[in-house]
Amino acid sequence: MSRLNREIARLSAAEIVQHIAQGNFSATECTQHFLDAIDRANTRLNALITVAGEQALESAAAIDQLVQSKKKLGPLAGLPIAIKDGICTAGLRTSAGSRMLQNFVPPYDATIVKRLKDAGAIVIGKTNMDEFAMGSSTENSCVGPTLNPWATEFVPGGSSGGSAACVAADLAPTAIGSDTGGSIRQPAAFCGVTGLKPTYGRVSRSGLIAFGSSLDHIGPLTRSAADAALILTTIAGHDSQDSTSAMIDSGDYSTALDESIKGLKIGVCREHFGAGLNPEIDIAIQEAIRVLADRGAQIVETSLPQTEFAVPTYYVIACCEASSNLARFDGVRYTHREPGDDLEQMYCQTRAAGFGAEVKRRIMLGTFALSSGYYDAYYLRASKVRRIIKQDYDVALESCDLILGPTTPTAAFRLGKHTQDPLEMYLADIYTVSANLAGVPAISVPCGFSKAGLPIGMQLQGRAFAESTLLQVAHQYQQQTDWHLRRPVF
Ligand code: GLN
Repeated sequence: MSRLNREIARLSAAEIVQHIAQGNFSATECTQHFLDAIDRANTRLNALITVAGEQALESAAAIDQLVQSKKKLGPLAGLPIAIKDGICTAGLRTSAGSRMLQNFVPPYDATIVKRLKDAGAIVIGKTNMDEFAMGSSTENSCVGPTLNPWATEFVPGGSSGGSAACVAADLAPTAIGSDTGGSIRQPAAFCGVTGLKPTYGRVSRSGLIAFGSSLDHIGPLTRSAADAALILTTIAGHDSQDSTSAMIDSGDYSTALDESIKGLKIGVCREHFGAGLNPEIDIAIQEAIRVLADRGAQIVETSLPQTEFAVPTYYVIACCEASSNLARFDGVRYTHREPGDDLEQMYCQTRAAGFGAEVKRRIMLGTFALSSGYYDAYYLRASKVRRIIKQDYDVALESCDLILGPTTPTAAFRLGKHTQDPLEMYLADIYTVSANLAGVPAISVPCGFSKAGLPIGMQLQGRAFAESTLLQVAHQYQQQTDWHLRRPVF
């Protein structure tokens, strides 16, 4: 590796942008560095489904032109970013990890992609994911699983496993994921990177291939909280293309990072430390609590009493919404099509061949739960429990500024461990799904390693639209620790 390559691999997103603006290296050199890294590692890790080599180099050349002619540069000028394959990119294949969309090339950019490009960021490729974002391991992808760069016999988490692996393995300095029940935070935890799920309504989902529309969020996966703040600043804010987008101002998330956390009340949630939590994770979280207390945070005990109902509530609502959202994939418009003797047979054969097993399972569960006679017992009931879960947060966040706990009950599991038992996989989402049900922001930051050498993540959850507080605490924690700077050797 050349000196330049070594240097680029160590830089934060903000530093990359700064070096390019100052002409220390060009956007083309930087993009080429990451394309080379992808070239070396992607066959093995399978982190990217599509590499945007030519397009990325063209965009980089355009940035270099701006630098040379001393034109005004965007806040992310020259910064490579990998985008989850469930997010539309104009002219660049977007499959959502599904055979159904294997050859789908969107005619437009998702709002967040447009904003990133307008800010000068360079889309370097599309990352692997569980089909339609349904899963926690990236094993449900039609192109096969992504491997965890820390130990390749383990999963990277999911469904944004490709995005997390890209950042962990230095195939991209930043990435974008989506999070319906933990899909940014859980892979961030498993791969030792920082992952932020913003408040519902904070970041536009226009152009995100919908899974569960009342639960879907888009957010960054980065090497640090400071980098997450930089990306969030660009992608956040109202968008008239998304009817659920909040009309709330979102400023510069980087400004509050350095403010002291002295006196900030951090609630440690009782229900997050019960049976099922691996002792290694518990120890790492206790140590993280000590670090934050040393920085002046006030640690208090708090409770989210309905935690045990979060997983069943989430899976009922997510499956119901998925069954409705995925009805559009019928072989008539932009999808894969199987032949049939008549229209109905064509629909059936297309959906039978186009969807994988997990997606079919969820469509059937959701269709069942929404059918007349069962609607009240499942969907309506789950919606009521969801309301109570939201109230738990309202109460808890009255007496503390944020809630701290583990992101996941265990570190990454072995490939294949849960593929025969989907229920076991669902149950491991216990700490992440509540934030989606309540719509509150949550971040996962690296806070240690298991004995097997796999990363551990700490989750911070906050009040609606208080991403700044989460980023500030995460950043202060990262000023004191170096877990987020460790890199895998693979
Ligand atoms: N693991 C959860 C699921 O399988 C969450 C997925 C997600 O956030 N997209 O539904």
